[in-house]
Amino acid sequence: MVLAAVAGASGCQKPDASRTDAAGSGIVIRYEKPTGSDRDDAAFLRRRKVVEEAVSAVAALVEVDRPISVGVVSCDGEGSSYDPELTHVEVCYDEVSETRELFGRAGPRRADDDVAAVMLETLFHETAHALVDVLELRVQGREEDFADQFAALMLLRKGAVGEAQLLAAAEAWQVSEVTNENVDEGPDEHSSDGRRAVNHRCYVYGAAAGRHPGLVGPDTLPVERAKGCSEEWKAVRASWTTALAPHLRKG
Ligand SMILES: [Zn+2]
Repeated sequence: MVLAAVAGASGCQKPDASRTDAAGSGIVIRYEKPTGSDRDDAAFLRRRKVVEEAVSAVAALVEVDRPISVGVVSCDGEGSSYDPELTHVEVCYDEVSETRELFGRAGPRRADDDVAAVMLETLFHETAHALVDVLELRVQGREEDFADQFAALMLLRKGAVGEAQLLAAAEAWQVSEVTNENVDEGPDEHSSDGRRAVNHRCYVYGAAAGRHPGLVGPDTLPVERAKGCSEEWKAVRASWTTALAPHLRKG
C-alpha cells in the first residue's frame, strides 16, 4: 500500500498460474505462482478472497467493453499498479506483508480483517484507474484522488462493514504518513498519505456520521473539515455515479 504510488507498467509478467473470469464480466483474475516469502501472502489473499470480492463488486456494477485483467503477482516491492497498454491491474503479494509491517509500527498485531481491508481498498483504487481508461470516464479533479474516491464508494456501499474497512485503510495511510520512509522519493501524483487518511475519514463521516461520532478530532478528522463532509461525500458519490451512469449494469 505504501508503494501504491508507483504507477505504470512493471516487468513482472509470468505465465498464468490460474485464471477466473467473474461471471463472464470481462474482468479476469490471474494468480501467478508466488515466489519465496510471498507464499504466505498469496495464501492469505486466496483464503480471504479479497481479489475476487473486488472484481465481483465492480463487475456487478459496471459493464466493461474492453477486457481488464487483474494479475496477482510476486513483484519485489514494485507496488500495485495499472498498465493502460495492457489494460492490466497488477497487485503484489508482498503488499500483504508490507501492510502488516505498517500496522505493526503503530502498535500490537492487527487483525487479518484490517490487512484484508487495506488490500481491498488498493484493489478498488487500481481498478478505478482501469475503469477511467477502458470506459474513457471524465475524471473529476486529480485522477489519483478520483481513484481513492472510487475505493471509498465501493466500500461504503457495503454499509457498516465497509465503513470499518475504509477506516482501517485510513489508519494505514495515517501510519504511513507518521512513519514515512518514502520522503526521498520525490513528489508523485497522489495526495499525501495523511491527506488520504483524512479524506477517507471524511467520506465515512459524511456517509454515516451517526455511527461514527468519535471520528472527529484534531488527529483524526478536524472539526472544521468534518462540518462539510456530508456535502463532500454527496458530491464525491454524485461525480462517480454520473461518470458511470452510461456503463451501469441494467436490472
Ligand atoms: Zn493510483
